[in-house]
Amino acid sequence: MLTHGITSLLAALNGGVLTAVQAATQVVEAIGESEHNAFIDVDVARVIAQAEQVDADRAAGATLGALAGVPIAVKDNICVKGVRATAGSHILQDFVAPYDATVVEKLRAAGAVLVGKTNMDEFAMGSSNENSYFGAVRNPRDPERVPGGSSGGSAAAVAANLCAAALGSDTGGSIRQPAAHCGVVGLKPTYGRVSRFGLIAFASSLDQIGPLTKSVADAALLLQAIAGHDRHDMTSAPVEAPDFSAELERGVKGMRLGVPREYLAAADGLDAGVRQAVEATLADLEREGATVVEIDMPHTRYAVGTYYLIATAEASSNLARFDGVRYGHRAADVTELGELYERSRSEGFGAEVKRRIMLGTYVLSSGFYDAYYKKAQQVRTLIRNDFDDAFTQVDAIVGPTTPSPAFRLGEKTDDPLQMYLEDIFTISCNLAGVPGVSVPCGAADGLPVGFQVMAPAWEEGRALRVAAAVERRTS
Ligand code: GLN
Repeated sequence: MLTHGITSLLAALNGGVLTAVQAATQVVEAIGESEHNAFIDVDVARVIAQAEQVDADRAAGATLGALAGVPIAVKDNICVKGVRATAGSHILQDFVAPYDATVVEKLRAAGAVLVGKTNMDEFAMGSSNENSYFGAVRNPRDPERVPGGSSGGSAAAVAANLCAAALGSDTGGSIRQPAAHCGVVGLKPTYGRVSRFGLIAFASSLDQIGPLTKSVADAALLLQAIAGHDRHDMTSAPVEAPDFSAELERGVKGMRLGVPREYLAAADGLDAGVRQAVEATLADLEREGATVVEIDMPHTRYAVGTYYLIATAEASSNLARFDGVRYGHRAADVTELGELYERSRSEGFGAEVKRRIMLGTYVLSSGFYDAYYKKAQQVRTLIRNDFDDAFTQVDAIVGPTTPSPAFRLGEKTDDPLQMYLEDIFTISCNLAGVPGVSVPCGAADGLPVGFQVMAPAWEEGRALRVAAAVERRTS
């Protein structure tokens, strides 16, 4: 296994303590022995070949990229040319990506070693990784528990030292929630900060790719490598990426941190251990000179409902392309086009994806559009306004990432609503488009607890600055 994160591995590689091939070998051996089911696809020869190239470049005195030799795993809804991209679905089981996602292109340019494709909930729909066609992932901190989802494979791979860092995607919490459950750092960037070109779309107005890492400093480095405008994605913003590491050491002295009253309300099922860990963290941040104030985010209670209308509507439209004609699974022995669509989709999609497509189609249908979809868009604006108002009073919004620590495998599979409530603290951030980071802040019942920091749009550096202070306190 590879205990190094990005920062310490770069020091070891640059200091000649370790070669890229040695690091890559540790990774593929550990994956081979691991029982977490964190990966869907690992091509050992390809991993080693990339590492050999980095070592050769180094030996030749070539200029090396910022992540030269660093093994990074990629969620399986992100396209890597020539490699399967299944998005955790049977329907894409044999789909081979014809091109690299922009983030992958950028990782290659930085010299990263692409480790493999991580397991995930089908089409990123889920909070436990149990919706994967390729089986559940086990939480490295307790194999009887879920790693969270939908980037459960990425979070588990980082936590179990099967890579130095990983990429995930976050539509309603899918980077931050599994990061919290596995005890690693997860960052959802500002909407538009990272190109979605080559990301298999779930809900296009919410999806963002971001890092899962072993430290806050690593999250800054990995974001640096993937951020920036991309003309292939019209929602990627023409905004310069600042130096995301610049503020990490500044501390929280003089900062105003807002805790939404609604986030600590016991009514929302907040676990006592999680509350304790978060409150202890807040007390420490105050001791370091931050001012912690309670704020109101009055539309928080509508966030989950709003999300499940908007996300399912967009998903029903995005997933219409999987029809048995162009991509992936095609039903056998059909005689007629309608039957081809119906059978290919019935056979190819799992239960949760079908549920979402039906719900999304329903809310978009004429007669219901105004009552559901349009109303949800209006409420989304109110939720955004809550954030705008809050950021006139505070520098960052903080609180728990999840209402409880990692739950047991199977515990919530029969109750979609309970599963959806896992995202109660993470979803608003996507609806508002602002950045959010989850950083480990202690334990409840021996399981990791995540502390979430949200900042105004384009202020990832500020969110990471607060997260770094939380991290210093636990290390
Ligand atoms: N758990 C949420 C869902 O199931 C969020 C998923 C995500 O962020 N991709 O939709």
